[in-house]
Amino acid sequence: MKAGRLYQYNQPLKIEEVADPVITHPNDVIVKIGGAGVCHTDLHLIQGMWHHILGTELPHIIGHENAGWVHQVGSGVTNFKVGDPVIVHPVMSCGYCLSCRRGEDMHCEDLKFPGLSVDGGYAQYLKTSDRALIPLPEGVRPEEVAPYADAGITAYRAVRKAAPLARPGTKALMIGMGGLGHIGIQVMRELGNADIITLDIDKGRLDMSLDLGAAHAVVANDQAISQVKSLTNEKGADIIIDFVGTDRTHADSMQMLRKGGHYFVVGYGGTVNVPSINIINNEFNIIGSLVGNYSDLYELMQLNARGKVKLHTSKYSLDEANDVLRKLEEGKINGRAVLVP
Ligand SMILES: [Zn+2]
Ligand SMILES: [Zn+2]
Repeated sequence: MKAGRLYQYNQPLKIEEVADPVITHPNDVIVKIGGAGVCHTDLHLIQGMWHHILGTELPHIIGHENAGWVHQVGSGVTNFKVGDPVIVHPVMSCGYCLSCRRGEDMHCEDLKFPGLSVDGGYAQYLKTSDRALIPLPEGVRPEEVAPYADAGITAYRAVRKAAPLARPGTKALMIGMGGLGHIGIQVMRELGNADIITLDIDKGRLDMSLDLGAAHAVVANDQAISQVKSLTNEKGADIIIDFVGTDRTHADSMQMLRKGGHYFVVGYGGTVNVPSINIINNEFNIIGSLVGNYSDLYELMQLNARGKVKLHTSKYSLDEANDVLRKLEEGKINGRAVLVP
């Protein structure tokens, strides 16, 4: 099959012919990829950021936002058949450990992460397990929903945690209106009741956020902090969801958060650096959020089916993977890019 493989960190992928994945466990499923979302985590992986965390071995096929059709099933798979359209939860979880039994797939003690720790979906075929699959309703094309598998549930999980705090009269600041943010704002509109303020460097993405339910949109420049302050009666936002996660957004968030406020860290790459006196004096809550579990993906697909959340996608061929990654790094992708092999 054709696949995009990383041979060396900080180098372009090689688009080349590789061996097809094979079933080795009764619950394995081979999925014919219909679409693979292109994600900032792919950039972080190419930079080597995940090497020591997940033990990625090179060469490695990246791509963890996958949807397609069941192509082949192991002997123990009873609930899916060849040809079924599916979206793929991003991890292969064991189902037996305490975390799995709590429903926390991302904390599985025997987790495999296609696209990060084992081969992923920048390819024609992907190996996963039947536990990871959610059937797609009739008429839904895999390439139109693939980014829900990671970008979608990552935004969904953070907003689901924040939503009970988003009561009428509260202010929720959402930083970064790209792939995750444009989903996050729609989920906040559906699950919460806060006045939503969005912050981004790009005017086009901010305009889109106003269409999707933001009350105010603020351009991320030197006046941004004072503008957010004035939109929150100089108190700061009750909730901040940071989809960007740079040193700058972490530092600015600490100045825009209300006393007793909740700061959800979703994007990553920077370092949160807060004097502990500020945390206790302001009773700041700083909360990490990692991807999402199977039921997060199930719930998000329900919102999608009802037309409550919509994805903005642009489609590219697998051969264009390196160009698309470069565009993403330069901030030139609106919504989400999807590779169609
Ligand atoms: Zn992703
Ligand atoms: Zn497990």
